[in-house]
This record gives sequence, C-alpha cells and structure tokens, in this order.
Amino acid sequence: MDVTASPLTQRRPTRQIVVGTVKVGGGAPISVQSMTTTKTADVDGTLQQIYALAAAGADIVRCTCNERAAAEGLAQIVPRSPVPIIADIHFHVEMALAALEAGVQGLRLNPGNLRKPEEIKLVASEARDRGVPIRIGVNAGSLHPEIYERFGGATPEALVESARLELAYFDEVDFHDVKISVKASSVATMIAAYRLASATFDYPLHLGVTEAGPLPGGLIKGTAGIATLLAEGIGDTLRYSLTADPVEEARAGRQLLEALGLRERRGLDLIACPSCGRAEVDVIRVATEAQAALSALDLPIQVAVMGCVVNGPGEARHADLGIAAGKHRGHLFIQGEIVRVVPEADMVEALVDEAKKIAAEGVTARLAARDRSAAAEAAADRALLLDDQGTDVNHAGERIERIRRRADRA
Ligand code: SF4
Repeated sequence: MDVTASPLTQRRPTRQIVVGTVKVGGGAPISVQSMTTTKTADVDGTLQQIYALAAAGADIVRCTCNERAAAEGLAQIVPRSPVPIIADIHFHVEMALAALEAGVQGLRLNPGNLRKPEEIKLVASEARDRGVPIRIGVNAGSLHPEIYERFGGATPEALVESARLELAYFDEVDFHDVKISVKASSVATMIAAYRLASATFDYPLHLGVTEAGPLPGGLIKGTAGIATLLAEGIGDTLRYSLTADPVEEARAGRQLLEALGLRERRGLDLIACPSCGRAEVDVIRVATEAQAALSALDLPIQVAVMGCVVNGPGEARHADLGIAAGKHRGHLFIQGEIVRVVPEADMVEALVDEAKKIAAEGVTARLAARDRSAAAEAAADRALLLDDQGTDVNHAGERIERIRRRADRA
C-alpha cells in the first residue's frame, strides 16, 4: 500500500528524537523494535539474532545490560550491528553508565527499578552529555511502590504519574531527549494509559502490551492494544512482547504497520479467500505453499490465492498478482486480468515464476505478454463451473427464502 494513500497517516504531533540513525516521533515513520533473548556477553550469538531481527523488520533492537560482561559485549556489538542498539538497564546505575560507555544509541530506564533520584539524574546527565536518548519505560508490573499505593493499583493514571515524576528528575538536569512507554499486560489499561500519556506529554510514545504471552494470544493482545492506538494517531515506535522467537515480534510489528498503511510494503502480502462451497481447491494448502515459496523471494508484492474462478479474480483485482482455481486448472491473473491458465498442480510454481517476472519487467510488460487465449479459456471454465454449481452454491438464496417464510408465518 502506498503510505500516502492510508487514511491513518494523520499522527498526533510529538517531539522528535534520534536513536542512532533512526528518527522517532515528529512525523518520522513509525519504527519497529524488538529485544534479543541471547546473553549479551555472547557477542556472536547476539549479533546473529540482531541481524535476523533487522531482516524481519526491526529498526531498533534492545539488548539487556544486567552485568559487566553484558556491557563489555555491547562494546563489541554496537559497532557491528546493522541497527541502533538500546540497552535495557534493570536495577543498577553502574550498568547504565557502562552501557553508555559501550556506545549504545539509547537507554531504557524503568522508574520502578532504578529509584534513587540522584542515580536517575546522574544517568540523565551522562546521556545528555553524550547525546543519547532515554526511554522512560513504565511497566504496570513493576510500578514504583509509592505510586502503586497512592493510586490504589497500577491504574492508567498511576502509570502516567510515574513517567511524569521521572521527567521531572530529567528536567532538573536539563535532559529532554526522551520517549515514554506506559505498558501493561491488560490491553484495556494499556490503551487508557497511552491515551492519557498522549494528552499529557508531547514526547514520542513507544507502544506495547507487556507480557502478552505466546502465539497466537500474544499476537492478538499486542495487536488489539497497539493497532487501536495507532488508528487514533497515537504512537511513534512499537514493540510486540511475545513469548516466542523475537523474530516473530519484529515480523508482527512490521506487518502491522504495513497493514495499516503506515509503512511501505517491503515484503510479501499474501491474501487468500476464506474458501466456501465454491472452492475448487484446498485453499489452505495452496495458500500455505504459496506463502512459503513467495516469502523466499523477498519481493514487495501482494499476491492473492482464491478458491474459485467465479469470484476470485474479481474479488482480488486489487492484488498485483493472483491465482484462482477452477476445473482442475489455475487462472493466473495480474490486477484482475487473466494472463495464463495452468494445470492445478502448477499453481504455486506459476505464481512464483510470474512474481519474479513482474519484479524484473514490471506489471505493464507482463500484462502485454499475456497469453491471448487465456481470457477465453478462463471464461469457458467459469461458465462450466456456474453450470455445475449454479449461481448460489452457498445456498444463501434458499436460506433467505426460509427466513422470509418463517417471518410470514409468525
Ligand atoms: S466464492 Fe470463490 S473466491 Fe469467494 S470465498 Fe468462495 S471459493 Fe473463495
């Protein structure tokens, strides 16, 4: 999708910060983050994961910095990383200072963990002098006990208050290179907290539902929270927190932004019909095989797999490329126009072949190169199917008739 064509590009204005080479807020493209699960001291293992995350769509990667060996690992990782690195500081001020020494492009501080005002201000001063931004990462599960007590729990107001207090410490040392997160594992709390944060601060917001859990529930919770806020114009960067390979987090973040039209498509978007009584092929199997084969090409293309030739090409005419099944054959179409008819067994191979040719030659050239007899063959298949199945294969008309009869009797 063309980003400029999305109705969701209207964002709430925020200040802009720069994490390494990535701008966050102030109208910059919404960035995707993830976090490594390796020991940061394992430099090669961590770098391998960072490369995988970047390939899956992560713009920024966070690594834990919980001990000296991790900070020393960061000193070797940062210069070799393809994306900016943020260090997550848990409880120790020394680790924040060591991570800055290692050259990280950002820090994450949890106000519930690093609590002493003098230490917070020391880290902010060091970050200020080095031009390194900090995320104030408030988390409902580790809220500062005093705030928890005062608000009677980890309420949206309590989460925002925690961020406000941290900002006040930063203000004292004239540090403003900040983004904020107010995460909760409850989607409803998280949405309310970010809405309040957006109304309270003009700093960029980092979105996330914390501890969302394994797939598919974690993905649903993350999407429910993050997408709701993005659709309201709230949010400048995001992370899915999944109990899964972090590559899934990066992939999900990227795909969500592409689906909302907030980032340019850079990979495959496979759409497929849900299948119904008309389907002439096992749509799930063909779609799964097509997804695997086409993903490997790494092309920014939308491809449709449709279960029948009666409605498929028309319903998916917006796709760059598609295939619809009919009478043991596949109708290959480009932007709704039939270009070739292939045996059913060759459907996936035909999609891959045509996707490569579209990438090399462009849509116009491939439409011009279409098989001139394909449209007539396709029309004949379609007519045969309609003969076999009738126009109401899903029996909707019969059902409507029964509903009407029942209403008449009542
Ligand atoms: S009518 Fe055809 S394209 Fe539409 S859901 Fe049914 S099989 Fe798929």
